[in-house]
Amino acid sequence: MIYFFSFIIFILGLSIGSFLNVVIDRLIKNQSLLGRSRCDYCRKKIVWHDLIPVLSFFLLKGKSRCCHKKINWQYPIVELLTGISFFLIFNFQFSIFNEFLIYQFLKLFFLLGIMSSLIVIFFSDAKYHLVSDYVLWSFFGFSFFYKMIFIISTKIGISLDILKQIQNDVFFSFLSGLIVCLPIFLIYYLSKERAMGLGDVYMTFIIGFFLDWKAGFLALYIAVLLGGLTGLILIIFKKSKLKSKIAFGPFLVIGTLIMFFWGDKIINFIKKIYGF
Ligand SMILES: [Zn+2]
Repeated sequence: MIYFFSFIIFILGLSIGSFLNVVIDRLIKNQSLLGRSRCDYCRKKIVWHDLIPVLSFFLLKGKSRCCHKKINWQYPIVELLTGISFFLIFNFQFSIFNEFLIYQFLKLFFLLGIMSSLIVIFFSDAKYHLVSDYVLWSFFGFSFFYKMIFIISTKIGISLDILKQIQNDVFFSFLSGLIVCLPIFLIYYLSKERAMGLGDVYMTFIIGFFLDWKAGFLALYIAVLLGGLTGLILIIFKKSKLKSKIAFGPFLVIGTLIMFFWGDKIINFIKKIYGF
């Protein structure tokens, strides 16, 4: 049964991924998300049977039917990534929690929303060096509701004063967000927007809110490390000059995902090494 649902979730991920491609490219240009996809080159409407995620790309051998130009690799990659990550989240969600089905489904739903937002942030920042406010809001919204369900499902029954608990936990989450985004805000402010954008400040706030301050800082640390390494590699291979900007968003996304999936293990490992 679990295999059957895993498969359904994977297929759902592929189709959501197809929609995310539309979001990545249209939101930045302020275009409507509705309306049939058009060819990137000749603007002809694409027929429905050429819009099947991943499969169409390979059936068409990577070339558009209308004008035989190369289809952007972004499309199948985003679709596959979304499918695989949905599959992983589904299996993760249903293996570690043992609770009411309704909580599991709500958590799964919000986690898939968070994942979708992160994929859009990753690709639009990498491609356009811009992240739409709508996507940041959706990342925040899904995180907020995920947190809510998490608090309600773990605290209910333990304390009668559930409202007080929710209040405290939400306050702690906001505080975590502020703490984690503070260094990025300072860099943004002191470099006069040259080193970091306002989008990076918002992004780190939401990461702190979603993960809490400890895991948030580690996500930030991983992002800085990966960003620095990538910059170094690009300079060594002379792909980029020191001045050319590398978007920070994609690294933040990777850091967040690593901390979300393996955060507890990483924090325990660090505690063991430093002995506290
Ligand atoms: Zn065309």
